[in-house]
Amino acid sequence: MKNTITVGTASAPAGGRARGIISVNTLANGDTVALPVHVVNGASDGPRLWINGALHGNEFNGVIAALQFVQTIDPATLSGAVIVTPISNTLAFFARSRFSPQDDGNLGESYPGSPDGSITKQIAFHHFREIRANADYLIDLHASGVNNNSKSYSVLKYVGRPETEKRAVDLLMANGIHLNCGVDTLGENDEPVPLAGSLDLECMKLDIPAFMLELGHARRVEHAVVRSAADGFVNSLRHLGMIAGEPLKHADQVLTKARFIVRCSKAGLVVQACSPHDQVKAGEIICRVFDPFGDLVEEVRAEKDMFIISLKDDCVANPGDRVAFGAA
Ligand SMILES: [Zn+2]
Repeated sequence: MKNTITVGTASAPAGGRARGIISVNTLANGDTVALPVHVVNGASDGPRLWINGALHGNEFNGVIAALQFVQTIDPATLSGAVIVTPISNTLAFFARSRFSPQDDGNLGESYPGSPDGSITKQIAFHHFREIRANADYLIDLHASGVNNNSKSYSVLKYVGRPETEKRAVDLLMANGIHLNCGVDTLGENDEPVPLAGSLDLECMKLDIPAFMLELGHARRVEHAVVRSAADGFVNSLRHLGMIAGEPLKHADQVLTKARFIVRCSKAGLVVQACSPHDQVKAGEIICRVFDPFGDLVEEVRAEKDMFIISLKDDCVANPGDRVAFGAA
């Protein structure tokens, strides 16, 4: 007999669904801090897939995609369980900001959290306690920064656990994203933000296969991005054997080994020479920099064969500014 699954106040019997909250604490004005949670408990046994959104409060595409997806799942025909926390940093979400305004906390660097740390660390603690008890796989939904011209891509952090990494890669590919970026968390890397304390990394350390999907752009709801993300979740369920149907195989998907920043050395006006997800060969031009009279002052070229993750979204550049984010 399959068990009831309880996450926070949401208790779903086998073949049923529930919604509730994961309680954290109370703010100075009496507002409660609590994460909404959906639990869909399948009628038969299988893996438990946790989908998390809005760990950064201004990244909206994943919130909408996760909510649209969870409504469509029929627990009667599901094997295993789907758990969704669509808005994990409710404080940042309310402020439409990346971090929590109360303590300037980045939930993305706060895991596994602390029950008596600042409020963002407390959110991480209560969230992660439920994840480690209830998740066999985790998909963490993000979006590219507001100053980037980007297409959806993914990030998978290698932690020296090959079996977990293999299962994570296989699930990642089922999501159908073209450009997938591996990151070595043990060796050298040129990551733009600290990796320590990220949710997917902490899951991987516990052998819960996990990765981040960077869905479109922050501060926007992009309907084509939302639709393709939700399609990817359905294909993930097929891949894990949680619903009937053969998983779609996606052609020509790329899995790179590292991400890195490309900078200009001269000041001026940047005009891009390529687009997100383009493959650029060593020596090819990524962008050109012009002075205020329109004369060319720099050609920024690829130092090695690479894929373009994202490009600077405006044309104003100072020396050393990031003009592109690449992967190879
Ligand atoms: Zn994010």
